[in-house]
Amino acid sequence: MRKGVILLGSPGAGKGTQAKRLQAEYNWPQISTGDILREAVRNQTPLGVAAKKVMDEGRLVDDATIAALVEERLVQADCAHGFILDGFPRTLVQADMLDAMLQRLAETPGCGVDLCVINIHVPEDIVRKRLVGRRTCAGCGRIYNIYFEPTDGRDVCQACGGTLVQRSDDREEVVNRRLAVYLKQTEPLIAYYAARGCFHQLDGTREIDSIYHDLSRLLCVR
Ligand code: AMP
Repeated sequence: MRKGVILLGSPGAGKGTQAKRLQAEYNWPQISTGDILREAVRNQTPLGVAAKKVMDEGRLVDDATIAALVEERLVQADCAHGFILDGFPRTLVQADMLDAMLQRLAETPGCGVDLCVINIHVPEDIVRKRLVGRRTCAGCGRIYNIYFEPTDGRDVCQACGGTLVQRSDDREEVVNRRLAVYLKQTEPLIAYYAARGCFHQLDGTREIDSIYHDLSRLLCVR
């Protein structure tokens, strides 16, 4: 049975960082709905044009649109042995849609999914600083943080000299909205999945390596 990993946690909890490491080790693709949407925005597809406004306001794209993107992704060949959901589901409606999707997939012999849900918990004051302080090098993609990994006060990458930019949805007023939306719409998923069996919580304030160590142990022991 293939492994389906759901990474829960507020924006800025480190889901993407951990998903990338899992992807590299287990070869299960990271399915980040935020990344899929940002690529659509960059390519100015109809989805991207519609999503940009919603994202820049810190709100959520509608459930049916997101669920269709994920289902399209899950049937691709690289998900045959496992996949990592990063940023989906984000509402109870999306969780129900995911259940229905997994049931449809399981109708094909050998396509059942062994689901494991992991919540990466980081207190709100820390995620707020992680998000508002985040800067990305436009050249090499290296990530900095003006609070935790200062950049000499100059918006220049120390590795490649590229310009450091702030994601448009990391502006303070948008972060406030994203965190409020998380508390109201996404946090209830913790109780939803905790009631179901394979659910674990990790302290996301520790070193990246230490979180990853516990995460991969949780996935291996089953
Ligand atoms: P992220 O990079 O996961 O923080 O996502 C960035 C933005 O993309 C979010 O603030 C939402 O506007 C949108 N988004 C990403 N995933 C979802 C989802 N599962 N449902 C609705 N909107 C989403």
